[in-house]
Amino acid sequence: MNQRDTSALLARAAELATRYVSAVPERRVSPSEAALAALQNFHEPFPESSCDPQEVLEMLDGIGSPATVTTTGGRYFGFVIGATLPAAMAANWLAAVWGQNAALRVMSPVAAELEEIVIRWTCEALGLPPSCAGGLVTDATLANFTALAAARYALLTREGWNVIEDGLFHAPPIEVVAGAEVHASALKALNMLGMGRSRIRSVEVDGQGRMRADKLPKISRNTIVCIQAGNVNTGAFDPAAPICEAAHERGAWVHVDGAFGLWAAASPKYRHLMNGFEQADSWATDAHKWPNASYDCGLAIVRNGEALRASMGLSAAYLVPGTKREPMQHTPEASRRARGVELWAALKSLGRSGLARLVERTCAHAQQFAAGLRAAGFDVLNEVVINQVLVTFGDARRTQEVMRQVQDEGTCWCSGTVWQGKTAMRISVSSWATTADDVDRSLAAIVRIARAT
Ligand SMILES: *Cc1c(COP(=O)(O)O)cnc(C)c1O
Repeated sequence: MNQRDTSALLARAAELATRYVSAVPERRVSPSEAALAALQNFHEPFPESSCDPQEVLEMLDGIGSPATVTTTGGRYFGFVIGATLPAAMAANWLAAVWGQNAALRVMSPVAAELEEIVIRWTCEALGLPPSCAGGLVTDATLANFTALAAARYALLTREGWNVIEDGLFHAPPIEVVAGAEVHASALKALNMLGMGRSRIRSVEVDGQGRMRADKLPKISRNTIVCIQAGNVNTGAFDPAAPICEAAHERGAWVHVDGAFGLWAAASPKYRHLMNGFEQADSWATDAHKWPNASYDCGLAIVRNGEALRASMGLSAAYLVPGTKREPMQHTPEASRRARGVELWAALKSLGRSGLARLVERTCAHAQQFAAGLRAAGFDVLNEVVINQVLVTFGDARRTQEVMRQVQDEGTCWCSGTVWQGKTAMRISVSSWATTADDVDRSLAAIVRIARAT
């Protein structure tokens, strides 16, 4: 391919992408049966011969685009999936063209610099100490892993054990304390770090999934206490202040899984929910959820930067670290894409006020959902504190049937959960693109389907 062909290819990609974006507002959320069936056309033996890149692109658009889920639109409420802000979307294109490897500063000065900036801005937005160190990883699961690795290192170092040199065999035991509602991803992260399920002392939670501070066990100094900012079902926040106080009195480490909830701190209206969380030792969050910075973008933030760098550090003769922050000394990966670019674009385009409005608008939409569902006679199971709504339509079977039909019908998309023994549909309003009209249309579809089921 020559330069002209490459330019034509990129222009065509822009054209197809633009067409996709303009169809998003009216597009069904789940792909149609026909679109799913057509995915079969991708299945072919690994081609013997080369294919014109134009043809590759046309095939991808022809078969791929119709089989996407419209997560970038305003009516996707499944899991906790943020959409993509226009600035992040466009920045992603440019970053793709740059093709930077963000491992080392010398490989991409721009990626290294933007990472430093977004970590600082994120700490500022979340009310965390500006001196924290951070790493940009794929997601909250890896952010939990990265931060908890720093916790493990710091605690064992204090016990005179070098986990980097000597591993975990025969190491002094680390205790783990977590709420009964701890997210599975934190458990997986602990597990990958050699701290299995049976090590975790589970703390009773209240009706909203908040850890009960009065039920904390006796904490020893060699303990990691895992708390949550934003329960994945209810959106509830653990009482961080008394937990941090009790843990720190004993010298324990407090880690916060705040995949989406931490961003509540960006809004003056919701900041109070984050009281006490700034006292923790490490935090994991996602920029692809509430800030809508697009996939994949998680952040591990650690108060003790030395512990983070010691546990993620890597050296080899051919790697020449400079005196400035080196991205790969803060993450499990070495080579990776420059994911800080989209986050920078998202935060730069929003600014403090835009981020606050995004948080407040999505929370207001969640209230609109809850009010509409209650008015229609359905049971909202949670206190809608932020952007999450849990609703049932009767028994488990009926709720599941309503949910399946809502997903198939295509106006909106919500996923399910079991909340304290009750099967529920969960509505998570995490998209910048959702409007009050999107909520009305979705409510109408849900209520119509539920009444007919
Ligand atoms: C979404 C979520 C996770 C996992 O996030 P990924 O980005 O999918 O790894 C972990 N914890 C909480 C509280 C979450 O909401």
